[in-house]
Amino acid sequence: MKAAIIHNYSEGFSSLSYEEVETPKPGVGEVLIRVKARAVNHCDTDLRKGIFGIEQPFPWVMGVDACGEIAELGDGVSNFSIGDRVAPHFLLTCNTCQNCLEGKENICERAEILGVTVWGGYGDYLKCKSTDLIRIPETLSDIDAAAGQLPFATAWESLIVAASLSAGESVLITAAGGGVGSAAIQVAKLAGARVIAAAGESSKLERARALGADEVINYTTDNIEDCCKDLTNGRGIDCALEMIGGTILKQTIGAITPGGRVVVIGAHGGEQVEVDFVEFFRKHITVHGAGRSTKAHASKVLSLMANKQLIPVIHKTFHLSEAAEAHKLMESRNFFGRMILTDKDSI
Ligand SMILES: [Zn+2]
Repeated sequence: MKAAIIHNYSEGFSSLSYEEVETPKPGVGEVLIRVKARAVNHCDTDLRKGIFGIEQPFPWVMGVDACGEIAELGDGVSNFSIGDRVAPHFLLTCNTCQNCLEGKENICERAEILGVTVWGGYGDYLKCKSTDLIRIPETLSDIDAAAGQLPFATAWESLIVAASLSAGESVLITAAGGGVGSAAIQVAKLAGARVIAAAGESSKLERARALGADEVINYTTDNIEDCCKDLTNGRGIDCALEMIGGTILKQTIGAITPGGRVVVIGAHGGEQVEVDFVEFFRKHITVHGAGRSTKAHASKVLSLMANKQLIPVIHKTFHLSEAAEAHKLMESRNFFGRMILTDKDSI
C-alpha cells in the first residue's frame, strides 16, 4: 500500500515521505480498513519530531484517527461485513481490565493508541480489532466523520460527561480556535450553555463567534479572570474547558465561581503550574482531568453530526501524498478547523 511514513524523527517536513510499504494483514478478531480520510492532529507533528514521549520503530505510519470501509475480515469476526463504513476508535482497548469491564474503556489500563503504539491512519489501509470499531452513520461523509469524531468526542466527554454542563450555565473555552475548542463551542451551545470563547488572535475570535460563542476574550491582550468576572457581574463562570496550561490555567481557576468545575485536557502552554490550593476547598472547585472519550460517546457525536446538530470545521483537504504540506500548515498555526488527508478520487 501507499502511506505517508517517517524513517526517523525530524523537525523537517520532508521526513514525511509518501512511499510503498507492506499492507497490514488482519489477524484473528481483526479487520482491514480501506482508509478514505484521516485528520492531522497536533500529536502527529509531535510524533514526527520525536517529542511525543513514546518512541516508535521505523518505518512508522502515524495517524490517530481515520475512517473508511472494511476491506477484509480476519478469522472470528462476525459482527461486521466487508464494505461496512467504520472508524477505529483511537484508543485500542484490552477489553479485559477492570476499567474496560466497567464500560470505562477510555481509561483502559492496557490501551494501545492508533498511530502511536501501532501503525495508524496515514496509509491506504490499517488493521485493528473489530471491537475497536465505531460505525459511521449512512448520511455522514468520510471527510466529515474523520474531521469531527475526535474533537467532538473529546469535547463531549469533557463538557457533558466530566463537567455535567447544563443549560443556562456559563462556560469558558480556552484555545477556542483549535480543533477541540471549535468543537467544544458547538457542544456547549447544544447543551444550552452561555459560551465565552478565548483565543490569542482576533481572527480566531471572529470564527468562534460565527460558531455560536456568545462572548469572546483575546487572552494576549486581556486577563481571562477579569473578563470572566466582568461578563458575569462579578460572579465568575460555572465551568471551563482549559487546554493551554501555564498562566491561562491560573487565570481560568481564578475565574471559576464557587462550586464550579474546570476540565483540563491539555497543557502545551505550560505543564508545571503553581496554584494556591486554598482556592479549591474554599470555593468548592472541582478539577477534572479528561479528554479521552468512550466508544459510546464517539458514536453519539457521529450521530449528532449526521443530524447536522454538530458541524465539523474543515480548514483544508489534502491528498495523503501531501501530508508534509499539511504538517507545515499545522505548525504554522495559521488555520481554523481541521486538515484532512484523503485520496481525493476515492471520496
Ligand atoms: Zn482495558
